[in-house]
Amino acid sequence: MSADKEDLGLKAGIEVHNQLNTREKLFCGCSTQMRGEVPVGTVVRKQHPVASELGEYDVAAQYEVMRDRVFVYEAFRGETCQVEMDEEPPHMLNQEALETGIAVSLMLNCKIPDEVHVMRKAVIDGSNTTSFQRTMVVGMGGHMEYNGRRIPIDQVSLEEDASSIVGEEGGIVRYRLSRLGVPLIEIATGLLEGFSPKDVEDIAFEIGMVVRSTGKAKKNMGAIRQDLNVSVRGGARNELKGIQELGMLSVAMENEINRQISLISLADELKRRGLKKIHDDPVCVSDFLSGTENKILRSTLDSGGNIFSVVLPKFDGLLKRPLFEGKTLGREMADVAVAFGLKGLFHTDEDLSKYGLVEDFENLRRHLKVGKEDAIIVLGEGKTKGRVAKEIIERARILLKGPQEGTRSVSPDGSSRYNRPLPGSKRMYPETDIQPVPISEDLIEKIRQNLPELIPKKAARFKSQYKMSDSLVNEIMRSPHADIFEESIRRSGADASVVANTFVSVAKDLQRREGVDIGPVPDDLFFDMFGAVSKGMLAKEAIPEVLKYAAKHPEKSAAEIMGDLKLEMMTEKEIEEVVSKTMSEAESNPGKLVGIVMSKVRGKADPQLVIKTVKRLSEKR
Ligand SMILES: [Zn+2]
Repeated sequence: MSADKEDLGLKAGIEVHNQLNTREKLFCGCSTQMRGEVPVGTVVRKQHPVASELGEYDVAAQYEVMRDRVFVYEAFRGETCQVEMDEEPPHMLNQEALETGIAVSLMLNCKIPDEVHVMRKAVIDGSNTTSFQRTMVVGMGGHMEYNGRRIPIDQVSLEEDASSIVGEEGGIVRYRLSRLGVPLIEIATGLLEGFSPKDVEDIAFEIGMVVRSTGKAKKNMGAIRQDLNVSVRGGARNELKGIQELGMLSVAMENEINRQISLISLADELKRRGLKKIHDDPVCVSDFLSGTENKILRSTLDSGGNIFSVVLPKFDGLLKRPLFEGKTLGREMADVAVAFGLKGLFHTDEDLSKYGLVEDFENLRRHLKVGKEDAIIVLGEGKTKGRVAKEIIERARILLKGPQEGTRSVSPDGSSRYNRPLPGSKRMYPETDIQPVPISEDLIEKIRQNLPELIPKKAARFKSQYKMSDSLVNEIMRSPHADIFEESIRRSGADASVVANTFVSVAKDLQRREGVDIGPVPDDLFFDMFGAVSKGMLAKEAIPEVLKYAAKHPEKSAAEIMGDLKLEMMTEKEIEEVVSKTMSEAESNPGKLVGIVMSKVRGKADPQLVIKTVKRLSEKR
């Protein structure tokens, strides 16, 4: 299906969100470090539906109530205060974040408003204690260049990040407040027409690099999140939420293109089969299936729930059709059930013998007088009382009309799934607790005079100045530490190759092999660590060990870490002692001896000095 994309009438738009590494949060004095591991306390809340101005209950809010969840918020020392708990009004807008937002806006050729107006955006999943997120536009109507083409930049906004979810169990959702209020910069492009998925991914990368060029972007995993909206001709605009890894953006976009194409052909197929409308509603079949031996349905019945069947006329064989690689229509329907808190569903296009349901479904087909050309879906519902079965019929009815607008969540592998409706999240209200913030011409001019150099411009210099290959420079640019590459060399006097190797290979190895994210390690630690290497106080082989420790203890200095790990370089005399001791323990030839001594002093001694000492002492004997 990934054939010629030329005629697809592809339209896309990207939103890039990047956390900012400001000293304090957007509306209070708490730290943005998100370091805390053990909460100092928790706050419990329940959300209640509030009638909107129109006097109707918000659909999404009702949905949350239906799920009847309780929210528990974890608080952390130095990282949460009364503002995050919604016990105190927000403080003044953080100036560091504002100035970074203006700098990014200027780098993207945006107009800066005279006044910044803080708005409230409804949030109803509990990730925000106030039930809204504060957001403000700091730049608009800009553009950037990509391969000689002009990319429109609609808006640059500052927002507060939401709490991070810890988990959900038994109707209790646990959130961490440390992330709530961390400044986020959001950059939204205008309509991108005629760009391939790879182009769109590269454009997102370039936008992210503008933010990273300021040196104020957070470097930890999850610091960047991207949303993407896509449509094809005959399809509909769908928003794909939460793409973390940049390389997955093109994959997610391919999948969405294929999904919309599949839905168009599915609608055609249903018309061809003569289906005009789906009349029937879900039927409760609890009594009929009261003897089922399927474990999931059994437990639904035993806990007082009901089993519902949904008949999809003329759908036979369609539920096993792929929408995109790895997802069938049946799986998509199951995602709907999962989004409403159920375990899943069963349908006639799957191997029912795996679930011991062959006979139940045959009986059901006769009982409901359903023809061979029709498909049947069965699901068990407890608290949701048939609401999910109705939603599934709704989704099937929509299939007749082809692709519809919506939002979808993206998984790490680039596949996406049905997202429950959140109509409230688009609504904005003015934040009455904060006065509009005036932006003076003087401030804009001051920021304009001090705009940072863009990373790609720096990269061109790396090649000649440090004699680096194109591929290495490319990798450095893609590293979250690209902004401190040169400064590390300049301030420490360390070899460019040591610094490059650290930011590229060491960082990746630690992530891949040990799950260590060096993103939270402060910039100063890198400068001091490289300084110690260049002064011969720390072996470069010890860098991974130092960083692994620093990632866990970002509050410690390089000297403290080297002390804790006993990584000070050994003096010649100390090396001599180890060599003599090793010689007396085992009668070895000098070649072997070097190996044994090195294994004892690795990371703490200069290898050249070890070889010299072994040679000298061996000759003495
Ligand atoms: Zn706070």
